[in-house]
Amino acid sequence: MAGFPVRYRGSIAELHGLTFTATVHDCDDDHGQDITARDEGCHTLVDETGRSLAHVRRSSITPIAPDGHDLHRAARDGDWIFLPNLGEVRFAYQESGPTRRTRWIHYYACSGRRWGIFARLVSIYDAAAIRTRYTTPQERLTWQLRMALDELAETYAHPHLRQAFEEHADLVERLTQQQELNAAAVTDAPELAGIVAGQGW
Ligand SMILES: [Zn+2]
Repeated sequence: MAGFPVRYRGSIAELHGLTFTATVHDCDDDHGQDITARDEGCHTLVDETGRSLAHVRRSSITPIAPDGHDLHRAARDGDWIFLPNLGEVRFAYQESGPTRRTRWIHYYACSGRRWGIFARLVSIYDAAAIRTRYTTPQERLTWQLRMALDELAETYAHPHLRQAFEEHADLVERLTQQQELNAAAVTDAPELAGIVAGQGW
């Protein structure tokens, strides 16, 4: 398995916050009585100076996404999140629920061939709006364009949806321009191409 970047947060306090490249390995060590460490998978960490740590448990590291933020940070508009009984959805926003232990999580979905923002009431113990995987800027744009094009197709033939049609026509125009700017930026800065192309998170 390829190495992936992580931030350390385990029991060695002086290493907290430092970044390493982690690899998972099959471990023959029984880790004493620590069954959790064995079940979570055992990692070897190496930093850029070559310093390495062996037998590091999953809960001692935080994966870092190509954008430099924690992979599983609080979700922002358009991020993938996981909702119980629903699966992975694109997060829109969240707000307080009717009780302290509940929360409304709003997400994008297609229903009846129209895109919209739907809401689900979740227990804070069952679900959290945490990014589940990294989305490259290009993937995000492609998704937004797909939504806007679907909306164009659905509103085109309906006079009473004229305004929605025109709004989405403007949106497609803006997103296309953004895509062209991004493509130009990648050509100007080839070292960014790998980041934009994504790292398989
Ligand atoms: Zn181990």
